[in-house]
Amino acid sequence: MKIPEHLALSYLLAQFGVAQEFGAAGTGLVLLAGMLPDLDGLSILGGWRCHRTYHRVLGHGLLVTLFGALLLALVGAWALGQSGVFLTLWAWLHLSLLAHLATDCLFYSWPVQLLWPFSTWGVGFGLVAWNDLVPTLILYAAAALALAWPVATTLAAVGGVALLGLYLGWRAWRPRPHRGWGGWLTGGWARRSPRYWRWLTGDFIT
Ligand SMILES: [Zn+2]
Repeated sequence: MKIPEHLALSYLLAQFGVAQEFGAAGTGLVLLAGMLPDLDGLSILGGWRCHRTYHRVLGHGLLVTLFGALLLALVGAWALGQSGVFLTLWAWLHLSLLAHLATDCLFYSWPVQLLWPFSTWGVGFGLVAWNDLVPTLILYAAAALALAWPVATTLAAVGGVALLGLYLGWRAWRPRPHRGWGGWLTGGWARRSPRYWRWLTGDFIT
């Protein structure tokens, strides 16, 4: 997924408990953890070739997976002045980071090198087309609902994550239909679509 989608998913995950327990600071930490791997996207500053070499590698490897959420939880517990909450916070932040890696692996065929720097083995299931707006709209709609309707925040979050899971399950179960409404719905329309539709997903570079 792209960064805005990761942020929306992380926001929804925060509504599962962190937001209620730690407030806006907790939500902010979950958002940070959920986009932490994509810090390697800054490699675009070195040009497209540099980006292709290091994105989905440096930030998505074992070092950030093992220590990224841990360090964020340490800083977070210290900033909140509650050292006793460290383990709880770490678990939530780790979940957010793992959700980032899981969606990256499931969505596109661009391999995610989960074991870097110990291995260059990569995984990318390619269930979702690059500019498929269905997951984007599910995540944005659920996040908007959660923000706008405080009474139903948790329900919107659970519903959004469940819908995303169902869509991914559908895509895994049925290879993309090339014709008809199914093909259109699953991103067939996106290939030659105007660029501003891609901007919705957070893709400003292709
Ligand atoms: Zn990523």
